[in-house]
Amino acid sequence: MRTNSSLKHANGQDNSSVAQATASAASELEALDAGPSSAPSPVGVGAKAQAVDLDRIARAVREILIAVGEDPDREGLQETPDRVARMYAEVFQGLHQDPRGHLQKLFTQKYDEMELIKDIRFVSFCEHHLLPFIGRAHVAYIPNGKVIGLSKIPRVVDVLSKRPQMQERLTEELADLLMKEQDVKGVAVVIEASHTCMTIRGVNKPDSSFVTSAMRGAFKEKMATRSEVMSLIFGSKI
Ligand code: ZN
Repeated sequence: MRTNSSLKHANGQDNSSVAQATASAASELEALDAGPSSAPSPVGVGAKAQAVDLDRIARAVREILIAVGEDPDREGLQETPDRVARMYAEVFQGLHQDPRGHLQKLFTQKYDEMELIKDIRFVSFCEHHLLPFIGRAHVAYIPNGKVIGLSKIPRVVDVLSKRPQMQERLTEELADLLMKEQDVKGVAVVIEASHTCMTIRGVNKPDSSFVTSAMRGAFKEKMATRSEVMSLIFGSKI
């Protein structure tokens, strides 16, 4: 699944490897479909109505500062624990939101060709390091007599990305939610992202990006439909 090597460079070269990596990621995700899933529910924990405990985060951040050898009482750090607590409440607000709330309304429209929303920018946090991964989601679907409001899919991306995440899970949750909650004939999700846990630390590969995809319905069943969406997303890159 992981295509950690430099798939896409800032100068736009090495494009063929992007396409290959994408196709391979897609087939591997398909293989995962058959297996049991231990992923948390994409609906989130909002139903449990857990409020973010700001004081607890602040206490923990103060402990981290002490543990790394800092003085949390020096002037520059005095407000840091509270500030970080508010930041976590903001970047993890999706934990307390139900993405299905954005998918209630469909618009009747006689249109049954593919619709594609490209370049939905998002920032999420990898659950392994709590460091951001930043990227773009491309979401296509084939309507079944009704279309999804244009702003709805980006809102769902926002909810799902504002949680401790894995890019693979974000990709599949998005595809499954749209497939289950909307009356559509197929869904394709491709996500490209740069993971700061890889770019600023660890292997330190600043130009690397990670591509994942998930295909459902017609996109999974028909190679031509799948090829069409890939060429629409990556254009001349393929
Ligand atoms: Zn990570």
